[in-house]
Amino acid sequence: MGFFSSLFGKKEPKKVRIIDDLQIEIVHLSPLANDSEKFMEMATFNELSKYFGEIKRAVFLGWGDPMNHPQFFEIVKNAKDNAPQVEIVTFGTKLDSNNIQELVKLAPDKITVKLEKTILTDLNENIKNLVKQRKSNTKVILEFIMTKDTIKELPTFIEQAAPLGVDEVMANNINFIISPEKNSQKVFEGIVTDENRGDLLAQGKAKGKEEYEDLIALAGKVADKKGVYFTPKKLVCNEAVTCDYNPQKNVFIAWNGEMSPCPYLSLKNVKAFFNETEYAQKPFIVGNILETNFLELWNKKEYADFRGIYERRVKALNEYMKSTFDEDPNAQLIQENYKILDQKLSEEKVPEYCAKCYKIYDV
Ligand code: SF4
Repeated sequence: MGFFSSLFGKKEPKKVRIIDDLQIEIVHLSPLANDSEKFMEMATFNELSKYFGEIKRAVFLGWGDPMNHPQFFEIVKNAKDNAPQVEIVTFGTKLDSNNIQELVKLAPDKITVKLEKTILTDLNENIKNLVKQRKSNTKVILEFIMTKDTIKELPTFIEQAAPLGVDEVMANNINFIISPEKNSQKVFEGIVTDENRGDLLAQGKAKGKEEYEDLIALAGKVADKKGVYFTPKKLVCNEAVTCDYNPQKNVFIAWNGEMSPCPYLSLKNVKAFFNETEYAQKPFIVGNILETNFLELWNKKEYADFRGIYERRVKALNEYMKSTFDEDPNAQLIQENYKILDQKLSEEKVPEYCAKCYKIYDV
């Protein structure tokens, strides 16, 4: 606060931050080829860190484990000192006692341990130690990936996770279907038709394969009994207003400085699966921050147009919520307003880049 404003008790206007999550991939491990890890150069990270004043959170994630970067702690310290919030998504294999101590000292706001396989037995002590030692302002979240091989273990996983004291257990689907193996391992219903878009009212009732729904329901019961905050993903595709990556507010910077809306669209030469058919997914690389100013890239017309679609879709949903639920909602009002929302969403179709990505179908 400036001298005069503090003297007269006036608050300076809150800084407007244009980006919510700056997602930074400091380690890349190709999901497409048998390749070695690639690390973000410090010069690239330093260029990026100039924009920490424009963001709400620096989130370290990507196709590799950020904790494998040789300067991981130096990078996170820089982010802690300069960004409002810092979050880390790790596969957890580097959580030994030394690294836990270092991490705890830095006190990131959130640590998500993403378990690609049910390897809780290996991580149990480490996660316990992390949760025990973390500062009270660091949330620890476990992310369980549901596949045909792992979903049977979900209720037991919750049972084992409960005494650890984690803040949340998320049960997610395989993020992106980019190989025949992943396609055959998914547990959600993979066919999207026109019926999967719209009708938010019916969406809540749609069910996936009974065997898997029962396992999720059982896991939910265990979670309730044990006091675990459990958030499972759905097993049926239904078009969402926006995806988990919130592309209207977030941006992804790959290890080499390339800017994309999300990790998926940063990959080149992807053969993806959608509706049980393989197709070539077009990447969306806006440019490289080492060649063009970060904000210039963010404001590039093609990228602003892409975000604009999501902004209008989110606005339509917000208008629907306000006009329907601010007053006493009734079935007729919900139906009528829903028709208006459905019409608006059908006029603002998701960008072509996203139309065959399962993340927009909320699984
Ligand atoms: S829908 Fe898929 S491709 Fe589009 S922004 Fe979200 S994650 Fe990326």
